[in-house]
Amino acid sequence: MSTIDLAQVVVERIETLGRISEEPDRLTRTFGSPAMRKANELAGSWMREAGMTVSEDAIGNLIGRYPGEDDRAKTFMLGSHLDTVRDAGKFDGTLGVLAGIACVQQLHQSQTRLPFAIEVVAFADEEGARFQTTYLGSKVLAGRFNEQDLKRFDSRGVSLSEAIRAFGGDPDKLQAARRDPQDLLGYTELHLEQGPVLEKKYQPVGVVTAIAGQTRAKVRFTGQAGHAGTTPLNLRHDALATAAQFITAVEASMRDHPGLMATVGQIEARPGASNVIPGDVVLTLDVRHHLDATRTAACARLQEVAHRSGEQRGVIVDWEVVQETQSVPCSRELSGLLAKAARRHLVEVTELSSGAGHDAAVMGDITPMAMLFVRCKGGISHHPDELVLLEDVRVAIAVLSDFLLLLGNQLSPLSNRKHA
Ligand SMILES: [Zn+2]
Repeated sequence: MSTIDLAQVVVERIETLGRISEEPDRLTRTFGSPAMRKANELAGSWMREAGMTVSEDAIGNLIGRYPGEDDRAKTFMLGSHLDTVRDAGKFDGTLGVLAGIACVQQLHQSQTRLPFAIEVVAFADEEGARFQTTYLGSKVLAGRFNEQDLKRFDSRGVSLSEAIRAFGGDPDKLQAARRDPQDLLGYTELHLEQGPVLEKKYQPVGVVTAIAGQTRAKVRFTGQAGHAGTTPLNLRHDALATAAQFITAVEASMRDHPGLMATVGQIEARPGASNVIPGDVVLTLDVRHHLDATRTAACARLQEVAHRSGEQRGVIVDWEVVQETQSVPCSRELSGLLAKAARRHLVEVTELSSGAGHDAAVMGDITPMAMLFVRCKGGISHHPDELVLLEDVRVAIAVLSDFLLLLGNQLSPLSNRKHA
């Protein structure tokens, strides 16, 4: 079977998985659901068809293994996730899993073995839609799972621990499911871009340089509520006007610093009446950049702006960092090979950073990691309109396949052996 047919197969499988949902009229496939079980079974059958042995680990990550030339060879992982957000698009996560299976299928059909084993991992929970978590699947595999998460409950009162058991996993064996980094050569994830950069540059795929770090903060403006008809300007302590000044500064900060993403996504003003000056405002701030120093400097500047605006208006500002994640650089070596593979199919290779988080960010903690982004229509994702063109899937599979072959060619026979 040629690469062209495989792209068609991948797109048909994406359509099939897109119909496997826990809700009747839209795609929702959360961790541990019957839809997830069905998706794992189907993907598992495709893995077997591609010459892989199939297993599930303690949290329900589906793992297909294609042996290397040598039993002592290390393992290279290709992966992404099969769970979705609510009312999701079909391509997010699924594309990477199925492209990985397609690459192995190609090797299997040509009876090619590489100097390393390949594992295609379909992570069980990346989006965290059911338990409000992130990257549960890859965290277990990377040995970064937090036991506290087992006590989380979904909206129906089912604990994560119970959900893992019901799915066929074992919450007591999550730590043991950790993979030894010594046995891994690296990890590469193919994923739709979820942004407009590749489309703007007319490029079907692009090589990711880093996954951006992120700061999430909660900012509270405490002023003084008062009568909208009787309080003159010089006696007002308007929390919402102060917040508004801050929000425009957040937006402006992106103009001065290329690559910086800064967003106020949620705001609540109290008491919330048309004839009352707002006395209390809480808003969320989300700041991302692929360089941690740029992100932290931007946050420091914005914090200063908030306090200055507050002082001018007699409004107290409280700044609480809710979450902070460091940026994760992609492996130069693996990214270089991806770019080399891409140059076989494209005149120009675009490099871009990822503003969204991925399982690759967790995997990058234990093994060299790289990502290949695929153009998506209008940059839309986490939405039923999500779309990747067949031609782009074709290029993506070709690049990923060539990447694996290049990696095989450059390995010295001893560098990829596990410890005896
Ligand atoms: Zn995803």
